[in-house]
Amino acid sequence: MSTKRKPVVAGNWKMYKTSSEGAAFVRGLIEELRGRAVDASRVEVLVAPPFTGLFEAVAACARTPLRVAAQNVYFEQEGAYTGEVAPPMLAALGVRWVIVGHSERRQYFGETDETVAKKVRACLDAGLTPIMCVGESEKEREDGLMDDVLRRQVGAGLALLTSGEVSGIAVAYEPIWAIGTGRTATPELAQEACAFVRAQAEAAAGPGAAGSLRVLYGGSVKPDNAEELFAQPDIDGGLVGGASLEVDSFARIIAHAQ
Ligand code: PEP
Repeated sequence: MSTKRKPVVAGNWKMYKTSSEGAAFVRGLIEELRGRAVDASRVEVLVAPPFTGLFEAVAACARTPLRVAAQNVYFEQEGAYTGEVAPPMLAALGVRWVIVGHSERRQYFGETDETVAKKVRACLDAGLTPIMCVGESEKEREDGLMDDVLRRQVGAGLALLTSGEVSGIAVAYEPIWAIGTGRTATPELAQEACAFVRAQAEAAAGPGAAGSLRVLYGGSVKPDNAEELFAQPDIDGGLVGGASLEVDSFARIIAHAQ
């Protein structure tokens, strides 16, 4: 892992944990990291609860290096959009990061490259840092379309940003076939794809921005594969689903990112 880029390890809780369960988890995680002598200030550690858990998670993370991410956001500032949440509302709550364009949102909730780009833009306008998710399906990989998919998703997703803005965000490469399946990409495959993502960011925003961009790997990251994945030169941490739901496994993954 590059020494220049501070790694990010984000726990995506998906639709799990009530607000009190989330707050208890954060307190437990802080204890566990202390017990393992993990210096959480050397890694950007994020928890991403459902919307209902954000407030309590922010309170539990106060005065610690841990930060809170939302799992989604809408791209308008306010308005008649029943059921949606605007970026300034998240910022006012103390949320600092937002996962944008997760494959489950693209698959089940109609997210497109265009809405992802608008959401990434809207996050930055509100002072939030997006983690923009990209990744190919199994069929696309089998058909040799991985490069095309990543080129399109990264290019479209960054299209509304300046180079300086690109340098401050994160992109998570998450092959859809590895999410929640227990089938992790090999470190070599993950490195190759993350390097390709960085090259696309370079094409969009130049070498300086691409060199500072954090590229995360996501897809069945576990305590026993995190070390090798995070050691790859173009992998700056991970977006973790299932293994972020237990304090012990998430703390062990974070320890590997130090
Ligand atoms: C995710 O939700 O982004 C994810 C990578 O999930 P998992 O770690 O469970 O594969």
